[in-house]
Amino acid sequence: MRASQQSAQEYLAHGQTPFFRLPVAARPGSPPSGTRAVLLGVPYDGGTTASPGARFAPYQVRRVSAFVQGWHPVHRVSVFERSGAVDGGNVVFPPFQPEAVRDRVEAGAFAVHRAGAAPFLVGGDHSIALPALRAAARVHGPVAVVHVDAHLDTSGPETWGEPFHHGTPFRHAIEEGLIRPGQLHQVGLRGPWGAADDGLLSAEHGAQVTTADDLAAAGAGAVAARIRAAVGDTPVYLSFDVDAVDPAFAPGTGTPVPGGLSSREALQLVRGLAGVHLIGMDLVEVCPALDQADITSHLAAHLLFEGLALVAISTLTAGRSTM
Ligand code: MN
Ligand code: MN
Repeated sequence: MRASQQSAQEYLAHGQTPFFRLPVAARPGSPPSGTRAVLLGVPYDGGTTASPGARFAPYQVRRVSAFVQGWHPVHRVSVFERSGAVDGGNVVFPPFQPEAVRDRVEAGAFAVHRAGAAPFLVGGDHSIALPALRAAARVHGPVAVVHVDAHLDTSGPETWGEPFHHGTPFRHAIEEGLIRPGQLHQVGLRGPWGAADDGLLSAEHGAQVTTADDLAAAGAGAVAARIRAAVGDTPVYLSFDVDAVDPAFAPGTGTPVPGGLSSREALQLVRGLAGVHLIGMDLVEVCPALDQADITSHLAAHLLFEGLALVAISTLTAGRSTM
């Protein structure tokens, strides 16, 4: 019997706040049978270059995600039953040793992959995408990456005198061969760059770039359809930086850039990826201290729900929805 979401009354009775009212798996590397997705909090923001605070996001997203129910009315799937999702707790690390943090995140994600499930990392800042991709590539080989973000995140060490932070994960991922050439799909980019050649590294890797303006013009569903066609059966890792969304819809983030996606577009984008082979996801850069009325945390919870729905759909043998 797969684990599934608790009723509202069960949840109220025990007073704990796991993601989506899901069961907690004490050992995320050996979850209950039927588990296809494991949520892992990564309360780390030592890679932040501007306003810190994303380390508290896993706790806040856990709390507000209790409001999200399990039936997906568009895909017509019971998301938590089908995905067998569990809360695997947080990745534990010494917070002042960034290299150790990366190692622990990689080990945590790798254990979930090896158990045949998809890790869903709830950050934390975006630096955690690098160890997540290292873990994914160890199991699946170079993957396709859908990177939703206002920023390229391919900076080099010249910016801060430090090669590893939340502005660099995709530079390392490209250089380490974790992403298949031509299979980096960057969505939501906007705003000024540091220099004219900021986009060169990902362009030379064959990245498909959809700016926030491109998405507004084409529609989120069409962008998702284009990505779906391009990735085919390639394993897909989805890295979602909440600052891709306009600060008007997601104010709780450390490096906001005006002119981004609406919450509706962001949700449509992930929903529109139905049918891809999703092998992992991160949702990063939510900063509760900068948020208003938990708007950003609620959005994060719903984006994770849409991601889990992609895993749930992939367990169906027929009746796949495309939008
Ligand atoms: Mn960003
Ligand atoms: Mn980012």
